[in-house]
Amino acid sequence: MSTTILKSTSPQSPTDLVAEAPDMGASDVRRLAGHARSAQREWAASGAAARAAALSAIARDLRARREEAAALTIREVGKPRREAVGEVDRAIAILEYYAQAAFASNGELFPPSAGGLLYTERRPHGLAGLITPWNFPIAIPLWKAAPALSCGNSVLLKPSPDALGMAQFLEALLAPHLPEHTFTVISGGAAAGEAVVAEADVVSFTGSVAVGKQVAQAAVARGVPVQCEMGGQNAAIVLPDADPALTAATIAGAAMGYAGQKCTATRRVITVGPNPGFVDALVEAVKAATPGDPAVDGVTVGPVITEAAQRRVSDAVANARGDGATVLAGGETPDRDGWFIEPTLVTGLEASNSLLQREVFGPLAAIVHADSVTEAITIANDVRFGLVTSIHGSDVDALLEAAGRAQTGMIKINAPTTGVDFYAPFGGEKDSSFGPREQGQAALRFYTSTRTISFAPHHRR
Ligand code: NAD
Repeated sequence: MSTTILKSTSPQSPTDLVAEAPDMGASDVRRLAGHARSAQREWAASGAAARAAALSAIARDLRARREEAAALTIREVGKPRREAVGEVDRAIAILEYYAQAAFASNGELFPPSAGGLLYTERRPHGLAGLITPWNFPIAIPLWKAAPALSCGNSVLLKPSPDALGMAQFLEALLAPHLPEHTFTVISGGAAAGEAVVAEADVVSFTGSVAVGKQVAQAAVARGVPVQCEMGGQNAAIVLPDADPALTAATIAGAAMGYAGQKCTATRRVITVGPNPGFVDALVEAVKAATPGDPAVDGVTVGPVITEAAQRRVSDAVANARGDGATVLAGGETPDRDGWFIEPTLVTGLEASNSLLQREVFGPLAAIVHADSVTEAITIANDVRFGLVTSIHGSDVDALLEAAGRAQTGMIKINAPTTGVDFYAPFGGEKDSSFGPREQGQAALRFYTSTRTISFAPHHRR
């Protein structure tokens, strides 16, 4: 076991040490993968009712510890209270959904060509290797682990070191209800993540594009199924007939809520035609989102996750200023403890400017103007990412026409780019995703492989 220690600290109070654990190396991961593989056979053989009961019991325990889990989320990743509680509630719903999914049909029956039986059966792959980011520290690990476990896989979870405390919470939450080694947390950084990809029979990753591409390549080279959910550079398109106040409130929340630290956050606001009421309302809404202690009710913007993240946002603002941007709101780093930065709205940049092309994971968005819907769609689509687009307006035909031309995996009409329903497929196009969709029934297909069985009615001579 490695002697290097990983530490997770609170972004609003960086001297507060939330969790620590050894930085595991490849040999640790190999050993734990061996245990997990043995445990998987027992778990898969335990039957649907036992797996459903275990996941239901975990959901029940999490509901009983809802406040504790929310408090840990607030403390460890700076998520504002309302969103932290919402994430825990979503995690409970995910567990309940996949508990019942253990009873879902796992195959199909076909008419045999010459009597007997012809059917398919979906079986667990074996060991699921899950690599997760810090920004949804309970929902993302569970929306991968719950379907994987429901289908009879065992799990190695490699969380972000910045969300180590929540991963430890999860390991303790799940342990009483699962055979030993069925769910194991791998504490570590890139090397541990690479070792998980080298061991797993199926790989699911959420994080940045740069890492996701490496994970996908390594898994494909080994011939194991892989899905990667990566970044976004999401646009909100505001048509001329959009309600100014309502649309501004929706977009300000989607861009700045949780300090913009969501893959689905709005980064580009594309206005079509004149709508001065909307721009003024958006500036006011962003100015009103003052960063504060995420534990305090009503605060919607806390700190960003680390000092490096704070620096990335302030550097991006400085570069935008250097490129001639006008800062309409925010732009400063408050003089206080913790990694706070003001929600910042800029305008006056070309759509090709790096601020509009590259994901800066923080409370920073740019307004761009388009003369027509066609120009707005061209700008929206002209990035390497393709996660989600929101379109705002009143005319249904115009909304549906624009939605049909947006090149993203998800489209929201008069709704924020953020926020997803856990039972519907989730994923993007282009650099935002690789492999099959997550969530809902799509996840049950991903964590299983189908085999086809032909059963002849009698031995043929
Ligand atoms: P990250 O890519 O830095 O890290 C993600 C995970 O990968 C961490 O557990 C990390 O330790 C691990 N890792 C790092 N190097 C690795 C390697 N070489 N091999 C295997 N694993 C490795 O991302 P992050 O900073 O934790 O999260 C922020 C990013 O996540 C943003 O880009 C955001 O858009 C994205 N994200 C995407 C979604 C989505 O569903 N599309 C959801 C949330 C976050």
